[in-house]
Amino acid sequence: MVICDHSHFMEYALREARTAFDELEIPIGAVVVKDGRIIGRGHNRMEMLKDATAHAEIMAITSAAEIIGDWRLEDCLLYSTIEPCAMCAGAAVLSRIKTIVYGAKDSRFGACGSIFEIPTEKRLNHRIEVISGVMEKESLELIQLFFQEIRKKRRRKMSKYKVDINRILIRPLYYGLLMNIFVPVLVLGAVYYFDHSGAGDTLQPGGDLNYMFWALLAVAIVDGVIAIAFKQKRFFMPMIRSQETFAEDLAKGVFSESLICYALSGAIAIYGLVFYLMGGNFLSLFLFVFISFIAFQFVRPRYGFLEKVLAAQEKMADEGRFLQSRN
Ligand SMILES: [Zn+2]
Repeated sequence: MVICDHSHFMEYALREARTAFDELEIPIGAVVVKDGRIIGRGHNRMEMLKDATAHAEIMAITSAAEIIGDWRLEDCLLYSTIEPCAMCAGAAVLSRIKTIVYGAKDSRFGACGSIFEIPTEKRLNHRIEVISGVMEKESLELIQLFFQEIRKKRRRKMSKYKVDINRILIRPLYYGLLMNIFVPVLVLGAVYYFDHSGAGDTLQPGGDLNYMFWALLAVAIVDGVIAIAFKQKRFFMPMIRSQETFAEDLAKGVFSESLICYALSGAIAIYGLVFYLMGGNFLSLFLFVFISFIAFQFVRPRYGFLEKVLAAQEKMADEGRFLQSRN
């Protein structure tokens, strides 16, 4: 009979918890009952109110006090879907709640038997009767479902982010652009050195492009030598790869996914070269390359910033997994 009554009111607390779920809050709900009538209800609203004290039980106690116009909630029962924490159990003691009824235990913050036993603490001037395990399964399932959803969402977000931004766009573009700095600058340096007529003059494609080839080869050799000397797995120039990194990228599908980026960075290099051959001078091409390098530096820190934001979000979600340690 008594248990049946408790289940009846706990169902209302669960309704509050479901409301919290819909509001993307950790789904905990509570009601305060007096003389068989609900006089206060509340659900967790920590995120919405940006308030660490906005627990379901506090909300329910506050609204009950408002209804009866008194902070003394004598002869009142507090129903909560999850074991109240130290703050909420303390608030129940201070408001002289008669009985606390809760659903599932909370091994991390529970203060009604799990880590503290505030309601029955003999040194306090008021003691509360505690009934636990009422609709425990339903209360716990709701929490577990919530964190499953959070994890699913986070995984979707993270994997989408990693594939789209980091691997496919940012890294190839960054390395691609770096290549567009190294190669044109080194090539132009070589051309400038070999072309005795001066850098301001138009190049002769037939003869001067040979220098281009030799300069590219020199860059490749130097890059390879540096990579071997410093025992680097990945070469500095993205187009030059060790056998392992080549196989790795091939297996991950990096090549096919970032084809557009390589094509784009290649197009920039060719554009710079054509611009020069069409009569541009050394300085303007140097500026073109330099400015595109500077512009890209603005994108890169923002990428680093985004990464940090996502890591912080993940950490927050992890900290919210307060019931997961039980499972
Ligand atoms: Zn609490």
